[in-house]
Amino acid sequence: ALAATMTACGSSQKTVDAQSSASAGAGSAGALIGVTMPTKSSERWIHDGDNVKQQLEQLGYKVDLQYAENDIPTQANQIENQITKGAKLLIVASIDGTAITSQLQQAADNKIPVIAYDRLIRNSPNVDYYATFDNFKVGVQQATSLLKGLGVEDGKKGPFNVELFGGSPDDNNATFFWNGAMSVLQPKIDDGTLKIKSGQTDFKVAAILRWDPATAQKRMEDILTKTYTSGAKVDGVLSPYDGLSIGILSALKSSGYGTSGQPYPVVTGQDAELASVKSIIAGEQYSTIFKDTRKLAEQTVKMADAVLKGGTPEVNNTKDYDNGNKVVPSYLLDPVIVDKSNYKEVIIGGNYYTEDQLK
Ligand code: BGC
Repeated sequence: ALAATMTACGSSQKTVDAQSSASAGAGSAGALIGVTMPTKSSERWIHDGDNVKQQLEQLGYKVDLQYAENDIPTQANQIENQITKGAKLLIVASIDGTAITSQLQQAADNKIPVIAYDRLIRNSPNVDYYATFDNFKVGVQQATSLLKGLGVEDGKKGPFNVELFGGSPDDNNATFFWNGAMSVLQPKIDDGTLKIKSGQTDFKVAAILRWDPATAQKRMEDILTKTYTSGAKVDGVLSPYDGLSIGILSALKSSGYGTSGQPYPVVTGQDAELASVKSIIAGEQYSTIFKDTRKLAEQTVKMADAVLKGGTPEVNNTKDYDNGNKVVPSYLLDPVIVDKSNYKEVIIGGNYYTEDQLK
């Protein structure tokens, strides 16, 4: 309670930390922490899991790290097992943000704090903290980059034919990405600069369940056959994730895009996955949003450590992430737009990938 009061009074984080480690229960030393990640099918989660595990181990914690291959019951079981094994804290990147309420209740009954990692866990009072990137901003950046690629920023008036893709509807982030993007795109749709030629402007229709690349490819193929019949061309595609962008680009390629006579449309992305950064360098995908998973892991590990030592972790947002039950105190990191013009500086310069990896 003292730590909380001190934060409210605006004391520096340092003071709060000093206070919390002073009161640190010896019980936290070597404690087991349960970490659950959604899937290994996308590189980013592999990086996330590795980084979180390594950094926690450096602080002397034991870590049980699990992946669920996007299967909801598997993830629920993993969390239950971690509780049974005596985990003292859970870090969860959920698959379906609404599907683990009873597991979290079990955690609360055992006084196990829960940190939502990257994706907000919804409809549960038993989520203590949330570490993520500014998800609305990710969407704003994707849309801004799409407009830049189309030349709208340089004054081109269009009209440009654009198609919109959303993320998985059960992932809270997907709506934030979408709303952020639409805050930039809607005015351009309204003034006629952009035309959503398929007419599919509703998130529900544009959303791709479980972020599945094959589903995105299929949807793009359908749009191409139904809408782009008599010579009309796609100029841009809002894609919220690199894996979907790969599916979308491959549908476009089958339709004859990606040649000198018919270049690819401007396709966005997210996560700076290796294949997509290579695709950007090759002039296929236009951009991605770089979210440094090392930093997210670092922030989450700091939070976990503070909680386990009885302190109050640092947060920088206490208003935007209402999980349907409570506003979860959050720490938001800054995402960065990456395209051909700055990948060297951001990705190679930031030691995320080496130049060799990108060859
Ligand atoms: C993450 C994105 C990722 C997507 C698909 C979202 O929750 O925030 O970084 O692209 O899931 O894995």
